[in-house]
Amino acid sequence: MNGGDRRAEIAAALQRVLARIDAAAEVAGRRTREVVLVGVTKTYPLADAAVLADLGVNDLGESRVQEAAPKAAARPDLSWHFLGQLQRNKARDVGGFAALVHTFDRAELVAPLLRGAERADRIPPPVLVQVSLDGDPARGGVLPADVPGLAAAAVEGGLTVAGVMAIAPLGADPAAAFGRLAEVAARLRGDLPDAKIISAGMSGDLEAAIASGATHVRVGTALLGRRPPQGH
Ligand SMILES: *Cc1c(COP(=O)(O)O)cnc(C)c1O
Repeated sequence: MNGGDRRAEIAAALQRVLARIDAAAEVAGRRTREVVLVGVTKTYPLADAAVLADLGVNDLGESRVQEAAPKAAARPDLSWHFLGQLQRNKARDVGGFAALVHTFDRAELVAPLLRGAERADRIPPPVLVQVSLDGDPARGGVLPADVPGLAAAAVEGGLTVAGVMAIAPLGADPAAAFGRLAEVAARLRGDLPDAKIISAGMSGDLEAAIASGATHVRVGTALLGRRPPQGH
């Protein structure tokens, strides 16, 4: 496929996604402008990220450090969101390029995120506390009951906690899951009034997320096509 065809394909997909966001916001009585579209570019080349940016999607999501770091270095003008499970030994790199870390789930990540930002002479990225909604933190995230304590530890360590993030559990009703996330978010705002971000919703469930108050949806497949299986 030549570059022009790919651009047209992505532009058409973006129009469909934006129409879905508009429709979902309208049903929910919300403004479309309240919902930030994060275009998830993992496994796709930088050229696709550049097309998205050219079409107005400046918030891009990546989930692997070794892939995200060079893309972010090539396009420091864009906002790179980190969405992958975060290991302590990689957190320093993420601190050096991320605009927002969606997958903060351990206090031991605070120091390397701060150190990475300092080394890169950047403001430390704000973080979202990843919430595990299926009670199985093996897939990342903390249980709802542990969110306030982890957020407090992050703030005490010097990070800004900007809200919460979750992935709907496989096989579960996304509306129920995102409803629980909204409760967790409201409780966190009781402690941290500025922690307003709710990152929820992907290609398959963005409507349910927007109905439950998502401020950020993370959309990959619906914009760029299906990834090979290892792309998760
Ligand atoms: C890959 C990924 C997405 C995008 O998922 P799609 O179903 O392709 O839209 C969103 N969030 C996270 C955390 C991801 O890893």
